[in-house]
Amino acid sequence: MKPTPEEERLMNNFLPGKISKDGFLGSDSRHIHDIIEEDMRILEALDVDRTYLADRLHFFIRRGREGLEMPVEEEGYRIEVHWQRGMLPCPFGEPGLHPKLMAFVTHSASGKTIRYSQLSVHLIRRHGFFGGKGSFFRLQPRELVHFFCDRAGLACAKDPETAD
Ligand SMILES: [Zn+2]
Repeated sequence: MKPTPEEERLMNNFLPGKISKDGFLGSDSRHIHDIIEEDMRILEALDVDRTYLADRLHFFIRRGREGLEMPVEEEGYRIEVHWQRGMLPCPFGEPGLHPKLMAFVTHSASGKTIRYSQLSVHLIRRHGFFGGKGSFFRLQPRELVHFFCDRAGLACAKDPETAD
């Protein structure tokens, strides 16, 4: 099916230099909807709700912000959040802006680190979009589940206690 001009405009938002310097797709040539669909299938197979992951990511950003750019320890993780003094729109095109916050969360025991932005949390929660393969902010759903669920004795999946 040929994309409508509206769709084409939207697709451009995901390319490098439009909203983000590196873009959101990396080396992934698949359609955005196909990227989302595959990641949603992976989460379904793991029986983890993406809302759970978004809640965890959001929680760590919020805790990290309290450190004012200094590392914060929480639940066996070390969090550092930097604000790059600016706002970003969502590439999916709905109104609203997201602060340019960048989080680095390290699982202290294993040394494994993930990095993500405030916008990534929105993209996962609202759109189920984890980024194209090879993109700067790509978060692998399976790795993310492993990162949050198999560690520090955290309960996984659909736990209302973790909702933010
Ligand atoms: Zn959005």
